[in-house]
Amino acid sequence: MSDEPDSPAERQMRFLFQLRSRGVTDPRVLAAMERIDRGHFVRGQFSDRSYEDTPLPIPCGQTISQPSVVGLMTQALNPGPRDTVLEIGTGSGYQAAILSGLCRRVYTVDRHRRLVIEAEAMFQRLGLYNITAQVADGSRGLPDQAPFDRILVTAAAEDPPGPLLAQLKIGGIMVVPVGQSDAVQTLIRVTRSESGFAYDELRQVRFVPLVEGLGQT
Ligand code: SAH
Repeated sequence: MSDEPDSPAERQMRFLFQLRSRGVTDPRVLAAMERIDRGHFVRGQFSDRSYEDTPLPIPCGQTISQPSVVGLMTQALNPGPRDTVLEIGTGSGYQAAILSGLCRRVYTVDRHRRLVIEAEAMFQRLGLYNITAQVADGSRGLPDQAPFDRILVTAAAEDPPGPLLAQLKIGGIMVVPVGQSDAVQTLIRVTRSESGFAYDELRQVRFVPLVEGLGQT
């Protein structure tokens, strides 16, 4: 082992290896995650931990998710190149940036204005022009743009919110962590068909809560 810091290429290889070893195996998702540098979405004192498989604090008391969880959720969502995707919980913008490379259009909303403004600036800087970020209470969805092919909720709800189920197209998929905010939650995939909704449980996760109403900042 040398004490030399990793080159960006080595760091990238290790990052992708870590994702694969935790079950992110879809080549399209891995390629999308290879293209977006997580370092752009982590600020200040935590930036040297950007490539670790761990959630990290971001402003407004929120967190950027763990990369393997971003990968697994994206994989479960399975967005297609012509899909319109709604993400609830912009946070740092990292998850939306990954989705941007996999679908036609991404709408992402957060209840904190500061997070939306900072994420939007990064989308512009990186040339990710198919993302629209908006301040909104995502528990109501985004009725003006509905229905959606895919909905990804990156905050924990006690139940899949009714307005989001209603805004999912027939044939659509929603991925959402469900459970109490102070406990481990279950990641659920909801598939809508002509005959109704089918639910399957994917794994245990831990997310910040989905909070109704807009934030103060
Ligand atoms: N997807 C983010 C991580 C999100 S953390 C990323 O890639 O970095 C969860 C986010 O959900 C927080 O930013 C929080 O402000 C937001 N959130 C919580 N409740 C919300 C609601 N009702 N509407 C919109 N955003 C909400």
